[in-house]
Amino acid sequence: MSTISDQDIIQAIKHAIEVGNNTTGGQNASYIPALAQVPSDLFGIAIVTCEGKVFTQGDADTPFAIESISKAFNLAHVMDKIGAKELRTRVGADPTGEPFNSVMAIELHHGSPLNPLVNAGAMATVSLVEGDTSDQIWTNIIGNMMRFTGEPLTVNQEIYKSETDTNQHNRGIAWLLKSYGYMYNDPDMVVDLYTRMCSINITAKQLAIMGACYANGGVNPIDKQRVVNQENVPCILAEMTMSGLYDGSGDWLYKAGLPGKSGVGGGLVAVAPGKLAMAVFSPPLDPCGNSVKGQAALQSIIKDLNLNLYVS
Ligand code: GLU
Repeated sequence: MSTISDQDIIQAIKHAIEVGNNTTGGQNASYIPALAQVPSDLFGIAIVTCEGKVFTQGDADTPFAIESISKAFNLAHVMDKIGAKELRTRVGADPTGEPFNSVMAIELHHGSPLNPLVNAGAMATVSLVEGDTSDQIWTNIIGNMMRFTGEPLTVNQEIYKSETDTNQHNRGIAWLLKSYGYMYNDPDMVVDLYTRMCSINITAKQLAIMGACYANGGVNPIDKQRVVNQENVPCILAEMTMSGLYDGSGDWLYKAGLPGKSGVGGGLVAVAPGKLAMAVFSPPLDPCGNSVKGQAALQSIIKDLNLNLYVS
């Protein structure tokens, strides 16, 4: 097995910035009004290796809303608490083949949210976080995220307010799940916690650290703390492989061959197990909700560093 040198990584990031700069198209998410206001030309890349080396270029320290990427990490917390088998029963594991906020997917599957990475499944997963009050549950949600980053995190209040003012669709989904028996706490409280979780400020560098925890078998490679049981990591990466880029997951997998997770804030993280994680921030999205430049840039790194899992 060939090893990846620091110089290889530095070159690959440099190349990815060029590729990203030559990739146009897409639009900021606008269904959450505050996301439409984020400058579209922000662009940053970070790589964190399993040895804890950090490489960045561009706007890798600029905070943005984590959005759906939070789903892939809250999942770890709940899976550790109740086990992968129980989570599969109570939330599911299979791709929906539908957009991230699909109601039809729920109706077509007898009320099942189907998987923890679409809005329905992510809210069902939030409803399984332990705590007697909203405050206690929130402390557990953000506490888990901060173990992944190894750094304090804050909520972007502007995004949180904007999303709260416009999240009627998610509220509808939460109550629909309740009617089918797949919502395990008060639906309105769960939507609020989920919305706050999606509004957490994150940087591409922090996102790469979070992904590197998965690349490193569940141990944060910077502070060396275990953040998720090792046996759960392959299950989470399987979820990311199947559904991490929504109905664009198949297209991503053909081109990248790695588990990834995107968010409508313009973040995207991909995990090369046993090696490294890479993250990118660029707000313009394709119709599925995935960063356009982000996908091109990470695919370039994967190619340059020969990280595609399906290439022998
Ligand atoms: N908070 C967003 C929503 O619920 C997350 C969607 C995403 O990032 O794909 O609509």
